[in-house]
Amino acid sequence: MRVTSELRGQVTQLRSQLQKAGYAYYVLDNPIMEDAVYDRLYRQLQELESQYPGLITSDSPTQRVGEEPAAQFNSVKHNIALYSLENAFNQSELSKWEQKWRRQLEEDIVEFEYVCELKIDGSAIALTYENGILTRGVTRGDGITGEDITQNIRTIKTIPLKLNIEDPPPIVEVRGEAFLPLDVFSMINQERSKTGENLFANPRNAAAGTLRQLDARIVAKRKLNFFGYTLHLPEERLDNQWDSLELLQKMGFLVNPHRKLCQSLEEVAQYFTDWDGKRHDLPYMTDGVVVKLNNYALQKQLGFTQKFPRWAIALKYPAEEVPTIVKDIIVNVGRTGAVTPMAIMEPVQLAGTTVQRATLHNSDRVAQLDIRVGDTVVIRKAGEIIPEVLRVITDLRPAQTVAYQMPNSCPECNSQLTRPPGESVTRCVNSSCPAILRGSLVHWASRDALDIRGLGERIAILLINSNLIKSIADLYQLSVTEIASLERMGDKSAQNLVDAIAESKQQSYARVLYGLGIRYVGNVNAKILTENFPDIEKLAQASIYDLEAVYGIGEEIAQSVFQWFKNNSNQELVKALQAADLQFATGSDTSNFDHDQSSNITQIFSGKTFVITGTLPSLKRNEAKELIEQAGGKVTGSVSKRTDYLLAGENAGSKLIKARNLGISELTEQQLLELLNK
Ligand code: NAD
Repeated sequence: MRVTSELRGQVTQLRSQLQKAGYAYYVLDNPIMEDAVYDRLYRQLQELESQYPGLITSDSPTQRVGEEPAAQFNSVKHNIALYSLENAFNQSELSKWEQKWRRQLEEDIVEFEYVCELKIDGSAIALTYENGILTRGVTRGDGITGEDITQNIRTIKTIPLKLNIEDPPPIVEVRGEAFLPLDVFSMINQERSKTGENLFANPRNAAAGTLRQLDARIVAKRKLNFFGYTLHLPEERLDNQWDSLELLQKMGFLVNPHRKLCQSLEEVAQYFTDWDGKRHDLPYMTDGVVVKLNNYALQKQLGFTQKFPRWAIALKYPAEEVPTIVKDIIVNVGRTGAVTPMAIMEPVQLAGTTVQRATLHNSDRVAQLDIRVGDTVVIRKAGEIIPEVLRVITDLRPAQTVAYQMPNSCPECNSQLTRPPGESVTRCVNSSCPAILRGSLVHWASRDALDIRGLGERIAILLINSNLIKSIADLYQLSVTEIASLERMGDKSAQNLVDAIAESKQQSYARVLYGLGIRYVGNVNAKILTENFPDIEKLAQASIYDLEAVYGIGEEIAQSVFQWFKNNSNQELVKALQAADLQFATGSDTSNFDHDQSSNITQIFSGKTFVITGTLPSLKRNEAKELIEQAGGKVTGSVSKRTDYLLAGENAGSKLIKARNLGISELTEQQLLELLNK
């Protein structure tokens, strides 16, 4: 294919973005983008260069290892070059790598082994021992020359100053990873936040920054640690990687105890999957598994490319934060009338699913992010479930974008949107807004509520648009002929839907109450309320005081239930549903599902630990705690690496900083309520 000027421009732009990012990352230890964003841009450049080799230049980031050393330390040449590692992001890339190295060998081999080591997210250093004595410690730099940081290296207690072997060879080279344990990393950032210094983005940058400290006393204070993983001996005393790890250990180095000798890629894949599941239990950060051919003779035959050894590869954990491009920004009106801005994005794989929509929460968040159509954004799953936009990479913003403005009127019914003072949520308050009715219908029909199979968003829209339905109760008057007249609806499906609607009359009172969609009344609270108020009349007549007296029902919930029953149209709805024979009392229902449900209440937070910090917009702390506990979660007082979620409100302080340092998922009150279906 012809190289167009557009293509040339794209390559130049990618290169300059990567160079800028590489400099910030390697030299300043202060990255300007997430690793996953860097990796994605890098891959794009690599693919273009392999399609158009004429475009490769010697200064391209794909041709270099790391960066040139910074000026403040002496530059020294490495005794043996330090290479980077090729990356594989999935099993299929790993298999391709095996096929590739096998093809490069002259003969087919049957027996070989892989050594799997954890990929420590730190900074590579090369150590030289002369006659058993540590004489030099050097950063990786560009792989050929690095910075002489011997003084700082000497402060790391797990690096022996003298090798623990009899009769040491004249020169021994050891490579390994200097790293900061997570608790030390978190402490350093807490101190930096007190003194107003920039926080380190991750332990790797903190380790690299520490190694480059000019004052070795500061380095000593920071408690760097070191895992050895490569040993170069002049004589041929060793013939494989596994044995050299054992020897390193005998020499006095700390060698990571988590390692495995594998006979096949299947075993490697299993090892990787196991560690992907438990990596957060380690007291230091890892970003994948390094796979190395064990046998040195094989390694020698395969050799190196300009950047990587051909006999090793880093299998990286799937990113929990990924970049994508915003194609549109829309607002979504929910069943409570809450208007939520959403980003529509280029589809991407995120923690196991394809994601193309992410919540932007509310107009404050939109303004804070300054998100625009065309922007590259980083997304993640809040609470491992809801995709949200974490930040915008403004460095990658195309020219001529315009700031996004939230609409003033409802996109569904055109009425004026309101935002009560002190609240973060914008709402459509028109009770006959089709979006509110649609959301209510979908919720009514959902699995945990009336479980009406076949009634999803599409049918709800058709029913509303064709004026067949103005309230949930109208569902129970629908005929097969009416439903069959809807677009793409045959007689058979219409009959099925009518049957499913009729069957829903057997569902329990607790499910009906949950289906009504009263704010804060999720399926757990609905169950509690129906147990304490055995029919809807008693519930409707209950005072706030009566409601609050029920164990598990806090002030907010009591207020919400009380107000709901005061509303005329809600009273009408209950009457119409009673007339349609739905269950509004305990004991009268014929469904046997209810008995199962009491033991099967969705415990979505089962086994998860929460910490609550700051002032929440509407819930009191003990109310939030109760909601979490009802859903199976545990609330503790302090943040640690065992914390799964931080529920953060206004003026959150040190707990928030600590949680961010540890990479713990943050939740807002709104997200918590969404997760709990409140
Ligand atoms: P790398 O980190 O992907 O892999 C090579 C390194 O792995 C080695 O140098 C060594 O330090 C380390 N390692 C850890 N455990 C090891 C073990 N057991 N055996 C061997 N090596 C081990 O490669 P790299 O060249 O250091 O950095 C490239 C990566 O850095 C990119 O994939 C990207 O994610 C990141 N990066 C990010 C930015 C940014 O702006 N965020 C910029 C540049 C690079």
